[in-house]
Amino acid sequence: MSGRPQVLILGGGAGGVELAARIGLRDDLQVTLVDRHPSHLWKPRLHEFAAGTIDSTLSELSYYMLARMRGFEFQQGEVEAIDPARRIVRLSGPKAPGGDGASPRDLAFDHLVVALGGMTPDFGTKGVGEHAVRLDERADADRFRARFIAAMIDARESGKAARIVIIGSGATGTELAANLRQVEAGFFRGEGRAPRDMLEILIAEAAPQLMPGAEETLREAVRSRLAELEIDTLTGAKIAEIAADGVVAADGTRYPADISVWAAGLVGNPVLGRLAAFDLDNKGRIVVDSRLRSELDPRIQAFGDAASFTPEGAGAPLPPTAQCASQQADYLAAAIPLLLAGKEPEPFVYDDRGRLLSLARAGSVGQIGFGRRNDLLVKGRFANAAYKSLQRRHQWTLLGPLRGGVAIFADWLSPAKGAQLKLHG
Ligand SMILES: Cc1cc2nc3c(=O)[nH]c(=O)nc-3n(C[C@H](O)[C@H](O)[C@H](O)COP(=O)(O)OP(=O)(O)OC[C@H]3O[C@@H](n4cnc5c(N)ncnc54)[C@H](O)[C@@H]3O)c2cc1C
Repeated sequence: MSGRPQVLILGGGAGGVELAARIGLRDDLQVTLVDRHPSHLWKPRLHEFAAGTIDSTLSELSYYMLARMRGFEFQQGEVEAIDPARRIVRLSGPKAPGGDGASPRDLAFDHLVVALGGMTPDFGTKGVGEHAVRLDERADADRFRARFIAAMIDARESGKAARIVIIGSGATGTELAANLRQVEAGFFRGEGRAPRDMLEILIAEAAPQLMPGAEETLREAVRSRLAELEIDTLTGAKIAEIAADGVVAADGTRYPADISVWAAGLVGNPVLGRLAAFDLDNKGRIVVDSRLRSELDPRIQAFGDAASFTPEGAGAPLPPTAQCASQQADYLAAAIPLLLAGKEPEPFVYDDRGRLLSLARAGSVGQIGFGRRNDLLVKGRFANAAYKSLQRRHQWTLLGPLRGGVAIFADWLSPAKGAQLKLHG
C-alpha cells in the first residue's frame, strides 16, 4: 500500500472515465476505476453504432490501456454492494464464457464516487423486455443493428417495406430515426428502387407534442426535419403493449413493426437502490448536495445520470446529459483532494451550454447557450461541428493532446463514418 488515500470511481462512462483520467496521474491519490466492460464506448453516439453510420470498433477505448496511460488502476467487474461503514465495495466477475470468471472481491476506499449511469424505464409496459430494443449500452446497439440488417435484407428480397416503430420522441429516438434514413440506401443501391419506400419509420410520443420539454423553436425545427426525412410522427399515443409484431396503443390501435425501439425517458441505474441505503429521487437517482455528496455519507459522492442534483432556486434536477456529467467530472477532479484534506470546496455550478440534436445528413439543429441568458438557434454544419466538439473534448481528456489529436484525425479520415453500413465482418 502506498499510504495515499484510495479514491474509487464506480462506472467508467461519459463522466466516470473522464474523472479517472483527470486525477489518475496525481501523486497524492491512488485512483481505481471500476466498470463491468473491458472497454469504453461514448454513449452519446450509441444510436449511430445501432444504425451502422459509424463503426463501434473504431471508437472503443480499452480501460486497461487508458489505465496505464492515465495512471489509474482498472478493476473490471459488476458492482454488487457498498458497505459505507467498512468502506468497502463488493465486486463480482467479470464472467468468462465457458468458465467461472473472476472471483468476487472487496475493494477498499477512502473516498467513493458513484457514476453508474441510468437506463430507459419500461414504466411497467407489457412486452418491453421481451420484444423491444432499448439503447442503454453497447450490447443493445449491436442487437438493434443485427435486427435492422435482417429486416432490411428481408425488405429487399420481398419488396415489402421494413417497419420500425420508435416509442419516445426525445433525443435518442429522434437521432436514431434520422440515422436510419442515412443507411437505408446502402441496401438498395443499383436496384433502381426508391429506398424510402422500403423503410417506414414511425415515432410515437405519449405527450401531446413531440420532444416534450423542448423549446418551441427547437421542436419546430425538428418537426420539419423529420418531415423532410419522411419519418412519421404520432403524438398523444400512449403505448400499452409491445408485441412480437408491433406495438399496441392504449386505445387498441395496432402499429405493425419489424423492430420496436423503446426510447421513453431515463431513470437511475436500478442497481443504485440495492447498493446501499441511499436517498433516491422519484427517478431512482442518488440525491446529492451542491458538492455532489450523498446524504448517506459525505465520503460518497455521485454524479452524471446516477445522481440527482437540483441547484438552488431551480425547479428540477439537472438534465441527464454527457455535457452535465463532463462538467461534474471537472468539478470533482478539483473537489475530491479538498474534501480528502477536510476542506469545503466551492459548490458545483452548472453552465448550461444548450442542447443539440444531430439529425444525420439532414444536418443538426439545436440551441446553444449564447451570452448565458439567450439561446442561439444553430443549424447545419455549425451545429454539427458543435455536436462533435463534445466528443472531441472527451477524447482529448482521455487521451491527452497528442493521442487525442491523432484519434480525432483518424476519426475524421475514417471510412466508417457518414452514410456507410458495414455488412461484412
Ligand atoms: C443515444 C443517446 C444519445 C445521447 N446524446 C447525447 C448528446 O448528444 N449530448 C449529451 O450531452 N448527452 C447525450 N446523451 C446522454 C449521455 O450519454 C449520458 O447523459 C451520459 O452518458 C451519462 O454519463 P454517466 O457517466 O453518468 O453514465 P454512462 O455514460 O451511462 O456510464 C455508466 C457506466 O457504468 C457502468 N456500469 C453500470 N452498471 C454497472 C455495474 N453494476 N457494475 C459495473 N459497471 C457498471 C456502465 O458500463 C457504464 O460504463 C445521449 C444518450 C443516448 C442513449
